[in-house]
Amino acid sequence: MNNRDVLQLDQSDPLASRRGQFIVPDKTVYLDGNSLGCLPVVSRQRAQEVIDQQWGQDLITSWNRHGWIDLPVTVGEKIAALIGAAAGQTICCDSISVNLFKILSAALVMRPGRNLILSQRNNFPTDLYMAQGLQALLGKDTCELHLVDDDEIAPQLTDRVAMLMLSHVNFRTGRISDMQRMTEQAHQKGILVLWDLAHSAGVYPVELDQCQVDFAVGCGYKYLNGGPGAPAFAYIAKRHQHTFHQPLSGWMGHKAPFEFDVEYLPADGMSRLLVGTPPIISMSVLDAALDVFNDTDMKQVREKSLGLSSLFMRLVEQYEELAELICISPADDVERGSQLAYRHPHAFAICQALIAHGVVADFRAPDILRAGFSPLYLRYADIWHSVETLAQIMRQELWRDERYQQRSKVT
Ligand SMILES: *Cc1c(COP(=O)(O)O)cnc(C)c1O
Repeated sequence: MNNRDVLQLDQSDPLASRRGQFIVPDKTVYLDGNSLGCLPVVSRQRAQEVIDQQWGQDLITSWNRHGWIDLPVTVGEKIAALIGAAAGQTICCDSISVNLFKILSAALVMRPGRNLILSQRNNFPTDLYMAQGLQALLGKDTCELHLVDDDEIAPQLTDRVAMLMLSHVNFRTGRISDMQRMTEQAHQKGILVLWDLAHSAGVYPVELDQCQVDFAVGCGYKYLNGGPGAPAFAYIAKRHQHTFHQPLSGWMGHKAPFEFDVEYLPADGMSRLLVGTPPIISMSVLDAALDVFNDTDMKQVREKSLGLSSLFMRLVEQYEELAELICISPADDVERGSQLAYRHPHAFAICQALIAHGVVADFRAPDILRAGFSPLYLRYADIWHSVETLAQIMRQELWRDERYQQRSKVT
């Protein structure tokens, strides 16, 4: 593999033109789209329009005139198209954390006599923390979080488990869990299944309906490019919606919020997941960002995602000076999401040095260097440049510089 082969890959890339739809900073290779996606040009335009015209001029009339009140549903349906969900099952609201609280609470009520929430020990912390909070609130007799390693899940699927809560793609290693198989196994024991799509929505052709998933959550600011703190989304399979009752019964989830009734009555369908007034500015920005996916074939996105990560992996293997970086992501395409994780005792300083040299990756405690691959705005040449830069940093031990040892609040 040499530089010319890589340029050839870019020339035959069917998604190459998508890059022009994003603001990609100069002299930067951005390998962190799995934490915060790049700014789509249409989102910047929409932000300006929403602030200057809709808020600035049209003010309160915009709730109707510009469809603000329907945004959670319209944005939800755009996301539905990316995750294999038929209409009427996806809504945009709140954060993953808050949506988890709502869904876990509702699921426990839907499975009377069962108190366990089963999850992966290496799941994303907020998923575990939210279940721990619910356990503290309800007491262990009603809600108990039980954590197991990935390969111990199947034997733990017992008739005490109400909910199996899994990440589709592990946030550290990028390992994909088999959605179809695990959902089916859990269903055989009468267990409801929730999938966290934070690292697969927008980069992997997720098939929620086809896998008969019960619930899913995901965020708007990673591969969906909705901007920092963009609202999240939630999916509830149609068959569960009429028995789904969540405790954050705010007025936006009421059947008729503008009747101002004393009694809470949940809306029909997905709107019952809503709590308070939606953040219109950030939801509008996400709404625009999703238009980048119009006419985008998710299979092509997946192919390029694997193309980028496997190129990175192969290039790293070519350098002797990178031999101390231990890849903990699956080498097998079928099991690999859109990121790679490398273990190194000085991963933090190496990551800082990379960023200072224009390659933005990230660090995950205690010793992981993580590179995410966003197929819509990365080129194969960027991967080449990233690995060259990494090799130079290791060869010359540039990471030892005092500057690269300083830890800020966000790492
Ligand atoms: C990023 C991420 C989250 C973030 O949750 P928020 O409440 O939206 O901040 C949750 N779960 C996973 C797996 C993530 O990767």
